[in-house]
Amino acid sequence: MSSEPSAEIGLSVRDVTVRYGPVVAVDRASMEVPRGAIVALLGPSGCGKSTLLRAIAGLEPLSSGSISWQGRDLSGVPVHERHIGLMFQDHALFPHRNVADNVAFGLRMEGRPRPERERRVRQLLEMVGIGELGARTVGTLSGGQAQRVALARALAPEPSLLLLDEPLGSLDRALRDRLVHEIRSTLRELGITAIHVTHDQDEAVTVADRLVLMSEGAIHRVGPVDELLENPGDARTAAA
Ligand code: ADP
Ligand code: MG
Repeated sequence: MSSEPSAEIGLSVRDVTVRYGPVVAVDRASMEVPRGAIVALLGPSGCGKSTLLRAIAGLEPLSSGSISWQGRDLSGVPVHERHIGLMFQDHALFPHRNVADNVAFGLRMEGRPRPERERRVRQLLEMVGIGELGARTVGTLSGGQAQRVALARALAPEPSLLLLDEPLGSLDRALRDRLVHEIRSTLRELGITAIHVTHDQDEAVTVADRLVLMSEGAIHRVGPVDELLENPGDARTAAA
């Protein structure tokens, strides 16, 4: 099963500003992410990428602007009702629990019955290429294996939208190059809409169909990867 990005309405971010006291972390940012698209949000450290993701997830209140998913305004919709999956660099797994328990976490929170949880966990571990590791304690895994567990956990509750915040930042280059291809093919296979945050232009281009270039809190350019690469001016600045 594979699906190409459709023109269906997915995520709309309109004129969003997020302030921390006097700091304007996100400054009137706007973007559209079509359903099924994989977008890379690319920009230098401190430019507001994580804040924007947190705002989309509902973890950060907006100072102004609006965010909607499939035409529905998300203001007032609590985090757990947004059906948004999150994956971070410091993947926040439970180190003393085994892989299967970690992946099942969101499913338990939702009260899914045990046979369904077990089936889904097996399916996800196969999908991310660690089908044999279910019983392993997370603390004994390599960095790359732990990232695969984190991806499986984020995908387990079948989120409509997946937000990945520099998920490969802590890994060495060779492993990142491999995992970024795996992440892309997994997201494609599921047809899931995703925003992948990175400050690495190569990673952005490999994972995404579309790029969103951000600096100093603002979104400057949005477009298909090919188009922005033909005319990279701002892309280089954003990735510097
Ligand atoms: P990025 O993810 O692109 O590195 P962030 O979204 O983390 O950027 O940060 C954007 C700006 O907001 C930075 O100036 C950062 O210092 C500031 N910031 C982020 N989180 C907070 C916070 N909780 N309190 C105050 N300032 C913050
Ligand atoms: Mg960040």
